[in-house]
Amino acid sequence: MTTETSPAATDTTNGAGETIVGAVLLARELKRQGVDYMFGVVGFPVSELAVYAQNEGIRYIGMRNEQAASYAAQAASYLLGRPQACIVVSGPGVVHGLAGLANAKSNCWPMILIGGASAISQNGMGAFQEENQVEIARPLSKYAHALDRADRIPYYVEQAVRTSIYGRPGPAYLDAPDDILLAEVPISEVKETQVVPDPPRPGVPDRDIQAALSALKSAERPLVIVGKGMAWARAENEVLEFVEKTQLPFLPTPMGKGVIDDDHPLAVSPARTLALREADVVLLLGARLNWILHFGKPPRWAEDVRIVQVDIAAEEIGTNVPTEVALVGDGAAVLAQLNEAVDEDGWQYASETTWRSQLASKVEENVEVSAQLMADESTPMNYYRPLQAIRDTLPEDTIIVSEGAGTMDIGRTVLPNRGARTRLDAGTYGTMGVGLGFAIGAAIAQPGKRIVTLEGDAAFGFSGMEYETMVRYNLPITTIILNNNGIGGGPSVLDEDRDPPPGAYHPDARYERIADMFGGRSYYVTEPDELEPALREANSGEGPTIVHIRIDPRAGRKPQQFGWHTPTN
Ligand code: ADP
Ligand code: MG
Repeated sequence: MTTETSPAATDTTNGAGETIVGAVLLARELKRQGVDYMFGVVGFPVSELAVYAQNEGIRYIGMRNEQAASYAAQAASYLLGRPQACIVVSGPGVVHGLAGLANAKSNCWPMILIGGASAISQNGMGAFQEENQVEIARPLSKYAHALDRADRIPYYVEQAVRTSIYGRPGPAYLDAPDDILLAEVPISEVKETQVVPDPPRPGVPDRDIQAALSALKSAERPLVIVGKGMAWARAENEVLEFVEKTQLPFLPTPMGKGVIDDDHPLAVSPARTLALREADVVLLLGARLNWILHFGKPPRWAEDVRIVQVDIAAEEIGTNVPTEVALVGDGAAVLAQLNEAVDEDGWQYASETTWRSQLASKVEENVEVSAQLMADESTPMNYYRPLQAIRDTLPEDTIIVSEGAGTMDIGRTVLPNRGARTRLDAGTYGTMGVGLGFAIGAAIAQPGKRIVTLEGDAAFGFSGMEYETMVRYNLPITTIILNNNGIGGGPSVLDEDRDPPPGAYHPDARYERIADMFGGRSYYVTEPDELEPALREANSGEGPTIVHIRIDPRAGRKPQQFGWHTPTN
């Protein structure tokens, strides 16, 4: 990143002589701070802003709903390491965009939501779409402010960008009132700011590194947990080096998947339940002990588990379970320090231990159970048979987006991730409806890849109209729908004499026909032998495709030891 000063202060081409228009200044400052993509839905008072953004070289992606646009912006931000923008209209547009703020905040992801607002000069008068937007955005953002003066636009943009990526990442909200966007400011009065440098990467004191190492050395049943904080930190090389040097077994969280390839020999994901329950020392890398990790508490974890925790956010240390060794710093920096210490020490977790063989036999057992389910050729199909076909036909170098209850949970165990930041899913907030927006954000941010989106039928329904966006921009996205007729499955036939069950969706729905309306190729699959050919075709060539796969409405997971949301002791 360079630290040049604001070109807006010297360039008069877009202003009338010696002045610049607020919306032009905003677009220019966003671009200067590394915002290359803007997703949104235009209307009052941001339509011109989108055009000015295009003029400044920002790629504008017009979407169908603000929720999906805000999801697209955060996916692009997470993948690029720099906040990207979403613009929405005032009032209801902002309210819809809040969904993205909440989801990004929960996931510790950056993005900038820019909400158009009614004019400051009409505040309190009942203006068109007037809303107290900064106030409602604040609890869902890491930073929220109104652009209250046009000459200070560069200042607020710099704050939003910096706050969103420094320390623990999170979303920023900027309120853009109509009269500020329209204001003409003398260029000489525009406040200059620096381009935000990439985030600092603090390390930790050497004695803490030594303490971490001795804790690990004292473990009988050690486990490394790799979270999406490591993916965000771009610590994949350091994490892989550490795991290989120490030969410690590891488990990724859902979006920590791929930081180390899922098929790495030290991965124990298929033995997740056992690994969590029996580990005595856990090295927790950029992951929170929230519901996803069952709070670090019994019965899912050992009562007296010892935690060595790496996190950039000091306030995360000790959440739910006391931390024995706290390494508060950047994932890549701290792991590099750990690697150096391991080099000096020469320690490696023993190659033959009871723990290793326990894990290995559990992995083998669970892989076998899944393999049997995948081999089931009956119709209607279970979840596992289509997932096997999806796994076997995954494009090279893809990003897997996934949502839906059974579809996402079972899909996660079957579909391998190779490479950091190759999985985007419902995440910490458990949001349904993120899938198509995430896929669009990923396709825009990482052109050249074919993105695979695996959706339940209910999840697809939240933002299915974004398929039109995919067609309009000719995005290489394969949308796969595993249809079980509703939320958690629904009846195969609707009873004419009564209302359908609450979670039921139309059993005769033909989701793939959305391609008839807008374009792209579509496939409808009901039989196991149709799976591979359809998926192979869908994953080849250009543009968006859609594969609708019918599964048994009663299909479920393989039996689990613990139910979902098992209460903690
Ligand atoms: P997961 O869902 O994979 O468990 P979480 O979102 O719960 O991951 O946790 C990610 C953690 O990573 C957060 O506590 C966040 O503070 C931390 N984190 C974010 N950036 C970094 C970084 N650069 N280095 C270390 N930790 C980070
Ligand atoms: Mg369903």
